[in-house]
Amino acid sequence: MTAAWLALGGNVGDSRTILDRAVMLLCDGKEVRLTTRSSDYRTPPWGFKYQPPFINLCIAVETALAPSDLLARAQDVELQLGRDRAHEKRWGPRTADIDIIAYGDLAVHELGLTVPHPRLFERAFVLLPLAEIAPDLVITGRSVREAAAGVDPAGIERLPPRQGM
Ligand code: ATP
Ligand code: CA
Ligand code: CA
Repeated sequence: MTAAWLALGGNVGDSRTILDRAVMLLCDGKEVRLTTRSSDYRTPPWGFKYQPPFINLCIAVETALAPSDLLARAQDVELQLGRDRAHEKRWGPRTADIDIIAYGDLAVHELGLTVPHPRLFERAFVLLPLAEIAPDLVITGRSVREAAAGVDPAGIERLPPRQGM
């Protein structure tokens, strides 16, 4: 088993419920085991600005899957939750987006998969939830805690757990 960190986000539909389902579908307790889950965060849209706010969160897992198989599984979950890649714009609205942020301390440069995630250090909506669950994690020589302290948290709101969750 290898430790991996994933970032989830969405802004179409009931995002908190959809992302709960995404975590459940992704983490079957066998090939992908959930270790830690961050709070949900409400975050301003990134990239394409004129769209509803996102819900973002990060999870830590232990996985028996190779990085490319973990991505395939994540994309399968996106599809099950109604993501329609054919009709969406880059960085536009989507029901569920699941990115692999880091996989052990492996560097992957394959067609269709780059790990660690290349835009990780620009993104407060990834670094803040990641710093909540893995502050001491070091990715390509940078500590998550320090990276999170260096980004602008403006507009990002850490949400309390929902009733009954
Ligand atoms: P961004 O990658 O900037 O967050 P995005 O998540 O909106 O953008 P998608 O349309 O979800 O982009 O994915 C585009 C492609 O990115 C996927 O088809 C996948 O092959 C590729 N990809 C490369 N590296 C990763 C990674 N670490 N995690 C998830 N997808 C990745
Ligand atoms: Ca993404
Ligand atoms: Ca993605």
